[in-house]
Amino acid sequence: MTELTASESAFLSKAEAFLQFKVKPKLEQFYSKQKTCSDLLSDAAKVGLLRLEVPVELGGLGASFICKVELAKMLASADFGVAMSLINTHNVVAQISNLEKGPSRSSYLGQLMSGRFSACTAITEPGAGSDVAAIQTFAVAHEGGWLLSGTKSWIVNARDARFMVVYAQTKLGAGVKGIAAFLIDAEDANFVRLTPEGQGPIPTMGVGSFALSNYQCSSDQMILEPGLAFKEMMISINAARIYVAAMCCGMVEDCIEVVRNYGNDRHAFGMPLNQHQGWRWTIANARVELAAATALVAQAAKLIDCGGDAQILAAKAKIFATQMASRQVAELMHKMGAEGLSTDQPFARHLLAAQAASLVDGSTEILLERISRGV
Ligand SMILES: Cc1cc2nc3c(=O)[nH]c(=O)nc-3n(C[C@H](O)[C@H](O)[C@H](O)COP(=O)(O)OP(=O)(O)OC[C@H]3O[C@@H](n4cnc5c(N)ncnc54)[C@H](O)[C@@H]3O)c2cc1C
Repeated sequence: MTELTASESAFLSKAEAFLQFKVKPKLEQFYSKQKTCSDLLSDAAKVGLLRLEVPVELGGLGASFICKVELAKMLASADFGVAMSLINTHNVVAQISNLEKGPSRSSYLGQLMSGRFSACTAITEPGAGSDVAAIQTFAVAHEGGWLLSGTKSWIVNARDARFMVVYAQTKLGAGVKGIAAFLIDAEDANFVRLTPEGQGPIPTMGVGSFALSNYQCSSDQMILEPGLAFKEMMISINAARIYVAAMCCGMVEDCIEVVRNYGNDRHAFGMPLNQHQGWRWTIANARVELAAATALVAQAAKLIDCGGDAQILAAKAKIFATQMASRQVAELMHKMGAEGLSTDQPFARHLLAAQAASLVDGSTEILLERISRGV
């Protein structure tokens, strides 16, 4: 990808330093203590990561989507969970900065851009994932505002986020047309954070659940009205599919680098592993597939920056990149012998992350369905 501006390149250099000096040294601690990466927020804020797509006039960097995609790839090369967590907080910041009406933007933006709190976007529920129209979180009109009740699950950052964009049904039987989005604050007695077992295989991502029981919202907390909310959600999800694909590329790039170094040092049958032709071919193959995925991601990202309809390209990029990562991370892991399974190595983390990537923001099957309808 070549269309970065000088200030975007400078931002990415700072993000690279953040990754090397602030993220990588803490990863082991996050995983051994099953901790979210929320204590990276203030350092992430300092490099501008939490205001990347916020307009310059609101204190943001006004960066392009291609820049975000490069950032996603870079962060995920270290850890998919860190990348997802920080970018999901940023997404809420960017969404608030684009609101034409609604709750006072500046107080939310101040608290989020400074890294004081994390944020999340909550669509999925225990009974509804791919089938968004089936969500059972309801918003009932009440005294000029709304009462929200329901449970959200498998939400990135929900373990400790302060602010949430919650999608809820406003009209029984209306399907996606009745869904609206609300900006809520977890500091409320009618908000209950749930931490069900099993949602933490990638602790850095802070995946969690919460329940709302007659949670009172003022009318301006409805930030996207019925009719508009689903359309806007799909626009964001299309973009997310592209940066998730880029994250998969970042993870494979990391594995190639680790395997390449290992092949120089590890000897078998009197020579370094990388002198065995059969051993080297796996790396060559990974490079070929990585190049193809990277090209698809670049094409789709460019289309977003040009304001084009990237639905199909985003779906293709995500399907190919997630499948490529599942395949190649496993192949590359194997080239390390038993060492590939060591928790000191990134393979097991990246492998699990590739699986998660194939579900978040539209599962592979849902994307295949989208493409096949076009056919
Ligand atoms: C790590 C992680 C983080 C997540 N973060 C968030 C978040 O921040 N916010 C949020 O709202 N959600 C989040 N999700 C939820 C994610 O969006 C859902 O997992 C996804 O939409 C799939 O829904 P489901 O898990 O309920 O699977 P289901 O919808 O129950 O599907 C189960 C399986 O059936 C397949 N399937 C479903 N429908 C069809 C069909 N019509 N044809 C063929 N196959 C089908 C699916 O592809 C899947 O393989 C996250 C999930 C994970 C794993």
